[in-house]
Amino acid sequence: MILAPTDPESPFSFTYRGLRFSQDDFHSFIGLNAVDSPESVEAVMKVLKTHGERCTRMGAYKPRTSPYTFGGLEARCLPYVFELAGKYDIQIIAMEVTHESHIEQIDRVLDDLGHPTGVMLQTGTRNAQNFELLKAVGRQNRYPVLYKRGFGITLQESIQAAEYIAMSGNDHLVFCLRGMKTQASAAHRNLADFSQVPLLKRLLKTPICVDPSHAIGLRANDNRDNLCDIFHAAVQGVIAGANMLLVDCHPNPPEALVDARQALSLKELPWFLEDIQIAKQAYQQRLNCAKKWKEIL
Ligand code: PEP
Ligand code: MN
Repeated sequence: MILAPTDPESPFSFTYRGLRFSQDDFHSFIGLNAVDSPESVEAVMKVLKTHGERCTRMGAYKPRTSPYTFGGLEARCLPYVFELAGKYDIQIIAMEVTHESHIEQIDRVLDDLGHPTGVMLQTGTRNAQNFELLKAVGRQNRYPVLYKRGFGITLQESIQAAEYIAMSGNDHLVFCLRGMKTQASAAHRNLADFSQVPLLKRLLKTPICVDPSHAIGLRANDNRDNLCDIFHAAVQGVIAGANMLLVDCHPNPPEALVDARQALSLKELPWFLEDIQIAKQAYQQRLNCAKKWKEIL
């Protein structure tokens, strides 16, 4: 298996647009679930730049359960999304593709603009076993790939599906946990599976991402501790050693065209980033503690 763990002495990593991805690095990708206007894109990127963030998420091609809902602006929004990313120093945009032709559309626009930014091609949970799509994102080496696990298949089946990407020629891959579909998760949208971060880090050589927005599906920010459920879930992933976060936000959450209930507001972003920082420090402390105890025991 290409994605099997490597020798601990030479851990796997890849670098894209100056950012290194490995099981020892961490990057947040916070942004629009679905691009709806240049104004929304600019508002989000402006805040991200203020806080030194170099990555975001921007959905252009949205696979929707109902065909009567907004399916994304597709290639129409790519020129302004990429241009604004260049303006705000965003180096990588996680962007879902649902068809091989979308990769060509992204190529064309980035070529036309002289590559002001980079893209991480995302394959969604609904395409977790779309082997032709997985082979297509694997046949190219221009963009790394974010593989989201299937919400209704076993972890082993998702790992095998991700292996299709690597086998096709591209192991610059991040494996993303995004919650499992089950009635048992109610009132959350999915059952957060972030306790599997360490398991995946043991089974795979790739960095591991968590998506608390899709796992939880609602902000629920009337908790007595003032921390909304999405904050809690994100922290649970980070304190367990996740290497990447994928998070939805919107300048005006109630007006988001897709998954409005799970979007953080831009005002909450600095708070969220600070909360994540606490979790990162706590994970580091846990590593130090573990090292100490390993020597004692
Ligand atoms: C998304 O990240 O926009 C998305 C649709 O996620 P998932 O495939 O995990 O549902
Ligand atoms: Mn969604």
